[in-house]
Amino acid sequence: MDDYPRTLSDLERRFATEEACRRYLADLRWPSGFLCPRCGGAEAWPMGNGLLRCRSCEYKLSLTAGTIFEGTRKPLLMWFRAIWWVVGQKNGASAKGIQRMLELGSYQTAWAWLHKMRRAMVRPGRDRLRGVVEMDETYVGGEKPGIRGRGALGKALVAVAVEDKGDEGLGRIRLAVVPDASQESLAAFATLTVEPGATIRTDEWAGYGALSGKGYLHTVTPSHELKIAHRTIALIKRWLAGTHQGAVSHQHLDYYLDEFTFRFNRRRAAHRGLLFFRFLQNAMTIEPTTYKQMVKSVRGPKPSKHKG
Ligand SMILES: [Zn+2]
Repeated sequence: MDDYPRTLSDLERRFATEEACRRYLADLRWPSGFLCPRCGGAEAWPMGNGLLRCRSCEYKLSLTAGTIFEGTRKPLLMWFRAIWWVVGQKNGASAKGIQRMLELGSYQTAWAWLHKMRRAMVRPGRDRLRGVVEMDETYVGGEKPGIRGRGALGKALVAVAVEDKGDEGLGRIRLAVVPDASQESLAAFATLTVEPGATIRTDEWAGYGALSGKGYLHTVTPSHELKIAHRTIALIKRWLAGTHQGAVSHQHLDYYLDEFTFRFNRRRAAHRGLLFFRFLQNAMTIEPTTYKQMVKSVRGPKPSKHKG
């Protein structure tokens, strides 16, 4: 089932043609066989150029529509190489690294690719956390310590949610930059990241006061007892400080948080090929909405403080 390349040369061999790449992506998009979105037909003809035509209703659709590969002019093998490289960078991938590896002329293109890849790393609103979840927030970047709930110049506020698996330790995590530590912002973060019915453990901060009204069982504990959230925050800070020397602008912070989350939640999937496979699986799962759209629908549009 989990069919993935084992080495870079294996990857180059398996995906030597666009057709081979497309066949692989089609299997990921329709794991139980093609399904026409218009008539429900189960058979399609490949038309070349990544287009498929439904055999029963003639509907034409693009294999990559709605995915990070949509409209790309570069060969899919080049994307596959980039993804192979990104998932192999244990301490985080940089646009410069991608540019060098693919010999791209433009740094902008490398950045655009990284940002597209980010979309495939975390699928907000899907696979929400379950069971017992610890939640906390922390300031990232800037020089001065932040004042809770009021924001701090040059800092971004990151909300953190971690599954408590008891003896098994930390489960999955979700991270997001939030505008502030208000009830509105923290409840919106919870709605996006935690399945209703779950238990959410937080400290006494009033910003968490709206959780029980959102379908969660809310338990309050002294801050020093939020052990797994604090351990996660320490790991994030060490990672940002080590890999990026703390020099992550707010504009790019979401990308790094998603990359951290992708790696963290798959930390037991040791094989690089398996990470590659999971990445493409995510990439070919078509999102009904994006995170921004979801946040807007929860909170209403609001100008961002951070222009960085
Ligand atoms: Zn059809």
